[in-house]
Amino acid sequence: MDTKPHPEARADLLTFSDVSKSFTVDKKDRPAVYGVNCSIQEGEIITLVGPSGCGKSTLLNMAAGLYKPTTGKISYRGTQIEGLNHRIGYITQSDHLLPWRDVASNILVPLEIMGMAKNERKDRVAELIELVGLEGFEKSYPGQLSGGMRKRTALARLLAYDPETLLMDEPFGALDAQLRLMLQIELLRIARRFKKTVLFVTHDLDEAVALADRCIVFGGRPGTIVDTLNIPLSKDRDLMTLRFNKEYVEVCAKLWQQLSGTIAVGAQ
Ligand code: ADP
Ligand code: MG
Repeated sequence: MDTKPHPEARADLLTFSDVSKSFTVDKKDRPAVYGVNCSIQEGEIITLVGPSGCGKSTLLNMAAGLYKPTTGKISYRGTQIEGLNHRIGYITQSDHLLPWRDVASNILVPLEIMGMAKNERKDRVAELIELVGLEGFEKSYPGQLSGGMRKRTALARLLAYDPETLLMDEPFGALDAQLRLMLQIELLRIARRFKKTVLFVTHDLDEAVALADRCIVFGGRPGTIVDTLNIPLSKDRDLMTLRFNKEYVEVCAKLWQQLSGTIAVGAQ
């Protein structure tokens, strides 16, 4: 198993040390995640793929501090995570926009919580709206937006916290291929420009390769890491032409093979 960090990566940011998680269902312990060991370095984009139900969201919930590991520990910059960590931003599968607030007011929520001065808030919201390409939709309500625009709003709201690390759980799963590509391009641009560290869950293997510096393959029940692939693509890769790139095609094929193995194991 290749667990070497990406060559351009820096210090360890998020570390899972022998992490396991069980849930109690009907008074019985049901293991969901088992024996996870890995370190994510500052500035890395890591994707996490694996069959449904193998514990990917559970792992993210623990990294966000929402769940405690049953055994093992998770550290952020060398300190054990206990409860919510405000340097980590989390987008769950559902975007949780507030339907009674327009786009600008939804993005404003974190700034209000952080107590940013009113005159500064306005400029910051305008900056974020421009960053995710939502100019002209400031006064639209979530119910009036397309799926892609809702995701952009959720991304802008996440970035309003200015978290160092972004946890994203299948954020583009429900979108059509073209919209998904646009958002992938924007995510990479933003992550690289602001040197964000990203842990991104997807069930789409092409997406897992397209975005990542490293891709973690998760599998089995309980879920554990079955492989880690270094993605041999430059950080400023062009997603529009990636499908014609030989190395990309080769890694996608390798991942398909890996995952067909884990699906077979998961089904036993
Ligand atoms: P994935 O995101 O890979 O589809 P999950 O992390 O959502 O998988 O779930 C992994 C396993 O843990 C599943 O069997 C699921 O039913 C169980 N699980 C997840 N959250 C809870 C919970 N809060 N209570 C009980 N079981 C849970
Ligand atoms: Mg999930």
